[in-house]
Amino acid sequence: MIENIIQKRNGGELSSEAIQNILHSFVKGEIPDYQMAALLMAIYYRGFSAQELSCWTRTMMCSGKSLDLSEFSSPKIDKHSTGGVGDKTSLIVAPLVASLGVMVPMICGRSLGFTGGTVDKLESISGFQTSFTLKEAKKILKRVGVIMMAQSEEIAPADRKLYALRDVTATVESIPLIASSIVSKKAAEGIGGVVFDVKFGDGAFLQEASRARMLAKELVQLSKQMKLKSVAVLSSMDEPLGDAIGNSVEIEESIQVLKGNGPQDVRKLSLLLSAWMLVLAKKTSTLPQAMRKVTDALDQGLALRKFRELLMAQGGDVRVIEEVSCLPQPQFQVELFATTSGFLNKIHTRKMGDFLRGLGAGRLQLKDKVDPSVGIRLFKKVGDSVKRGERLALLQGGKKVKNPDIGLKCLSLFEVGLKPVKPTSLLGGIVR
Ligand code: URA
Repeated sequence: MIENIIQKRNGGELSSEAIQNILHSFVKGEIPDYQMAALLMAIYYRGFSAQELSCWTRTMMCSGKSLDLSEFSSPKIDKHSTGGVGDKTSLIVAPLVASLGVMVPMICGRSLGFTGGTVDKLESISGFQTSFTLKEAKKILKRVGVIMMAQSEEIAPADRKLYALRDVTATVESIPLIASSIVSKKAAEGIGGVVFDVKFGDGAFLQEASRARMLAKELVQLSKQMKLKSVAVLSSMDEPLGDAIGNSVEIEESIQVLKGNGPQDVRKLSLLLSAWMLVLAKKTSTLPQAMRKVTDALDQGLALRKFRELLMAQGGDVRVIEEVSCLPQPQFQVELFATTSGFLNKIHTRKMGDFLRGLGAGRLQLKDKVDPSVGIRLFKKVGDSVKRGERLALLQGGKKVKNPDIGLKCLSLFEVGLKPVKPTSLLGGIVR
């Protein structure tokens, strides 16, 4: 291992045999975390050649089992987001696309760093199960055509172990490590294609749009090598997506969108990602046709009906669809008012994610329990005019929200200026 670390540290290339040995031994617990951490840091600085990246990804995928969905005739397509603040599109996209005859075996993540996780959001629905064996997952897919489950022990265990180590060794923001982590999991899902939502901006892991584009290219290229069709949509995280950030508040907002309402940015991005999934599934030949199909399905309630089926199949309380009070309710709420008049020029998105994480919306340590009631509702978005004394947001959660200086801390995440600024546009292009 020491030789491999030196090789990578000095900018050399690891042989396929070395990569396979390293990853297999690491999964078996034969390589201590400190040596793996040193190698990860060397990879962070030196990157991977195309050959190394492809071998690293394939070996991660083969470190566990794969879903075999070959008995189902329908196309199988998934979507993956690189992570953001208020990003709830999976909750809309998965049932929407499944309602149009595409199978969606979605393996979702938990909250990570300052970003939220679909699994944590779904678990705020009473009874909702996210842990399934591959056999159980197949049964649900057969019945409903969609599943939203957590990464099991069986899928890409090398990535699970590596990810936990990267999270605590400042090696998350490496393009080849992110790309191999994502594609190895997707390739193990037994799908034919995947749509990537690659985030850039303040509330994304890769803040500069140019770096996000590099990641998008890497994801698409690597998918091709793994025989997956793919498209990457670049989308902005310069402000939170939608008006709600937190676990149960995001479920509530997703249900609004599934009912044909909700914030326009969430609706727009969800429709675009869903449309690309239909194109990859060959359900339509053009993107405009696909856009019409998914818009109709959303507005006619097909996606909501599929979401209800998904809740029933995974044990969730279906009453949440009509009764938001069935979701975990906060003990405390703090209203935030603008202290000056002007325009909302910035929401410090990454800091907001971190702030909510500190209140319990995410985890500071792996063993921490998430408080689903923690969240914030935004009443203003970047570019909006505000008047002094007008309500900017409502913060909610448990005991930590009762802290007397919490309101001021939260208010510092909003910048009001005299002149309006143009918000970054939501969409930043496509990579195919
Ligand atoms: N999401 C993943 O699955 N892996 C990464 O490395 C980053 C985001």
